[in-house]
Amino acid sequence: MRLVLIGPPGAGKGTQAERLAAHLHVAHISTGDLFRAHLRDRTPLGLQARRYMDAGELVPADLTVSIVRQRLADQPADGFILDGFPRTTDQARALGSLLAETGTALDAVVELVVPEEVLIQRLLARGRTDDVDAVIRRRQNVYWEETAPLLAFYRDRLVSVDAVGPIEDITDRMLTALRTVHAVESG
Ligand code: AMP
Repeated sequence: MRLVLIGPPGAGKGTQAERLAAHLHVAHISTGDLFRAHLRDRTPLGLQARRYMDAGELVPADLTVSIVRQRLADQPADGFILDGFPRTTDQARALGSLLAETGTALDAVVELVVPEEVLIQRLLARGRTDDVDAVIRRRQNVYWEETAPLLAFYRDRLVSVDAVGPIEDITDRMLTALRTVHAVESG
């Protein structure tokens, strides 16, 4: 399974990607986690990415695509869940090219649907260094401006899941929705 998770900041992508990856025995690849690891290790890439992350802006595409290219190259072929990438239609095209190089493609794109007031509450409770009021609002706006257009870009493989409620229930909904996609594809 090669999947992409899409949803605004606070939709639970990280939590659900981790759970889904364990169920499906595929890798969980989060560009946010990769950037934060670089930052912790004070690599040049991490230091370059930092000011964008602190401001809630997107890290430039060349840095982002290269980090994903590297991670996919480390990855055995049996599948992945991408969490936080792609975030723009340009990144989605770059991902399409990266996958085409190995003769593969995405199986499905899963959208996590959460109302805005729930998102803000979750983010304020999370308390990451980029979870302060102004940056939270900026990240939401960047999502609606830059990332939401991906929903149309991927409409032929898009599965939308209600992502409000107990964590386990949401994972179950995602797995059910993905089984439908697979059934449709194979039959
Ligand atoms: P996340 O953990 O997905 O919320 O990402 C945290 C921050 O990392 C974002 O606010 C961006 O600054 C940066 N980032 C993560 N993924 C990407 C991406 N695909 N493109 C650009 N910037 C990204």
